[in-house]
Amino acid sequence: DKASRQRLNHERYVEGQDEQHLRQLALIRDLQEAVNNNELWMAYQPKVDTRTGEVCQFEALMRWRHPTLGFVPPDEFIGLAERSGNIAMLSQWMLGHVCQQIHLWKAQGQHLSVAINLSASDVTDTALPERLNKLFSHYNLTPDQLALEVTESDVMHDVDAATETLLALSQLGLKISVDDYGTGYSSLAQIKRLPVDELKIDKSFVLKLDTQEEDLTIVRSTIEMGHNLDLKIVAEGVENSASAELLSRLHCDYLQGYWIAKPMPADAVTAWLTGFKPLLLPDSSITNE
Ligand code: C2E
Ligand code: MG
Ligand code: MG
Ligand code: MG
Repeated sequence: DKASRQRLNHERYVEGQDEQHLRQLALIRDLQEAVNNNELWMAYQPKVDTRTGEVCQFEALMRWRHPTLGFVPPDEFIGLAERSGNIAMLSQWMLGHVCQQIHLWKAQGQHLSVAINLSASDVTDTALPERLNKLFSHYNLTPDQLALEVTESDVMHDVDAATETLLALSQLGLKISVDDYGTGYSSLAQIKRLPVDELKIDKSFVLKLDTQEEDLTIVRSTIEMGHNLDLKIVAEGVENSASAELLSRLHCDYLQGYWIAKPMPADAVTAWLTGFKPLLLPDSSITNE
């Protein structure tokens, strides 16, 4: 009958919530061990310059293989780490790890640039610039070798502290990119008050660019407005050649996505670069309408 069906639905609902809650508690508990037990690593995904077709940078993306729960996506554990006060530990590990990796690549003759993702609490951590500065001298890195991706909402949450941190970071010579651009609520005018160099158009506008007229309109006007404000533009989520060609014609500066490469472990990067042929993209200066 209806009443028992409703009760069942209700129970299933609560049960699902409990499972979810238990999983979250387990993940939060185990995050602390993940670093010590070598369960974390960084994957690297290339970005290509549309003018040259060459790789210009890699983005470092965190990975966690939990001993019993298996692969846990960063969209799940980064948020949990933020809310449970574990994010500083993860960020600290990540920063040291990435700087060391850039140093190792350099020792192998590869001068690579890597973009890292900052979390909300990193953006307002006014001690971050000095910590990075120390890592730079320790690993003998130049500022062009590290770039930062921050999200609009993380910055706008505490805009004064964020501005202070970002200013100090940009004075160190680091380039700053606004990640997931278009998903937040701030205007370009607000963003432009911050020391940012680049907009990274969120993949939700890029994934179906080749078939969705609205996405194309949004992306086109974002590129135009961004360029008028002296910002470089990156598109994430480029999954096919049609989208890559469209973006190149629209003068998008950099492309990133599965069409070029999926994120890969550090030890696959050198071989991948060796096999990489510069992309042949339509020359935007010729095809410009
Ligand atoms: P994000 O920084 O916006 O990174 C882009 C995400 O899109 C990555 O997911 C990447 O693997 C995925 N992606 C790239 N190209 C394509 C494509 O062509 N198609 C599709 N469908 N997806 C694509 P991932 O690695 O799962 O990371 C998710 C988010 O987790 C990141 O979004 C970032 O916000 C966060 N994150 C990852 N690593 C770190 C980290 O070290 N620190 C912090 N604070 N956050 C991180
Ligand atoms: Mg990012
Ligand atoms: Mg993004
Ligand atoms: Mg994103």
